Amino acid sequence: MQKDSYRHKGMRRRLIDTLRQKGITDERVLAAMGLIPRHFFLDKAFEEHAYEDKAFPIGNEQTISQPYTVAFQSQLLDVKKREKILEIGTGSGYQAAILGSLGARVYTVERQEALYVKTKQLLSFFQMRNLRCYLRDGTMGLPEYAPFDKIIVTAGATEVPEALRLQMKVGGILVIPVGEKEQIMYRIRRVSETEWEEEERGDFRFVPFLGGINRNSGFQPEK
Ligand code: SAH
Repeated sequence: MQKDSYRHKGMRRRLIDTLRQKGITDERVLAAMGLIPRHFFLDKAFEEHAYEDKAFPIGNEQTISQPYTVAFQSQLLDVKKREKILEIGTGSGYQAAILGSLGARVYTVERQEALYVKTKQLLSFFQMRNLRCYLRDGTMGLPEYAPFDKIIVTAGATEVPEALRLQMKVGGILVIPVGEKEQIMYRIRRVSETEWEEEERGDFRFVPFLGGINRNSGFQPEK
């Protein structure tokens, strides 16, 4: 495991200032991002860049989301302690660690076996007993643990999967980027058993939300 030095902490403080300047106001989210060392979630080769506000490759054609995006989605979720949260797209595990650090009970699912295995091990280092990883196709949600207070999707979907609408509690929130090449961030609130209210919250770019499980992907660092 890598070290979290004073230098890393300093870079992290500057990143938090940048996020504030870009309009992130949720102090709990900013504190969580100030606590979790993002460089643990990147390949050594990117360590120097871990506290830039940029997305980076994590292998298997996937990326760790840009810090601003992680902060923005976390802020939209309005996370409260002990809430049950489903994350679709574990990826590097960074977003999951932020949600865990906010005190939520986090269920995170990933469809690529190689990433699931690697990230599960990394997250175990943080010893968060409130965070669990699953190898699943997130288009189906995680029915055996539903309903959830909040659901966050961290890959670009072409439509909102019905299973996710149905696996949120009444009063619950789903944050999901929807669109083909570029996505619009939707914040969807379930207002009754049969009604959902949708708000559009800006443009983003994510890797695609895909169906099925990819079992034999093997870890392939990006060239
Ligand atoms: N939250 C991640 C972002 C990773 S990128 C982070 O903080 O690093 C999005 C991830 O979603 C990728 O790892 C991709 O494999 C995964 N993904 C895409 N479609 C999925 C699906 N249907 N079910 C589960 N994971 C999915």
